[in-house]
Amino acid sequence: MAEASMHHYLIALGSNRRHHRIGRPDKVLAAALLALAADGQDVLAVAPVIETPPIGPSLRRYANGAAIIASPLRPDALLALLKRLEARFGRRRGQRWSARTLDLDIILWSGGSWHSPSPLLIVPHPAYRTRDFVLRPALAIAPHWRDPLTGLTIAQLHHRATRG
Ligand code: ATP
Ligand code: CA
Ligand code: CA
Repeated sequence: MAEASMHHYLIALGSNRRHHRIGRPDKVLAAALLALAADGQDVLAVAPVIETPPIGPSLRRYANGAAIIASPLRPDALLALLKRLEARFGRRRGQRWSARTLDLDIILWSGGSWHSPSPLLIVPHPAYRTRDFVLRPALAIAPHWRDPLTGLTIAQLHHRATRG
């Protein structure tokens, strides 16, 4: 595939539920990246996983990560692949905001912006600009990537989101 036809993506990975075979959420994220590569995506950079230990009586442990991939796929085709991966890792629909084994979001795309109603896809991801659990891993691998809507880099968005 010629380099000119490749797309670059910043992907956010999240898990807050053990996988019966793979184990803890951080292991789930590592396995998801291997599966992405096995599916033909070129994983160029992987951020250290940030883990939130269980607080209080909750046993729920969160893991969040980020990766840069190069892909021949357009955003809609990549979304379809990510959803297949989520399903393969045991995620069930209707688990929005609740415990799920794997969540894969497209945060930024080298092509800029994408809006489609069906399947619903909005890139840049509409909520990432204020989410520390997305921006912190992203900062490690894509500090200079620029948000086309605000014109700010990941480093600037992270600074804005974390200052008191
Ligand atoms: P949030 O999107 O606020 O992080 P979530 O990840 O829990 O919430 P999901 O249930 O995983 O939400 O996704 C709901 C739908 O959002 C998906 O089926 C997908 O069609 C749509 N969607 C829109 N924009 C994106 C994007 N940039 N990346 C991934 N999915 C997206
Ligand atoms: Ca999400
Ligand atoms: Ca999602």
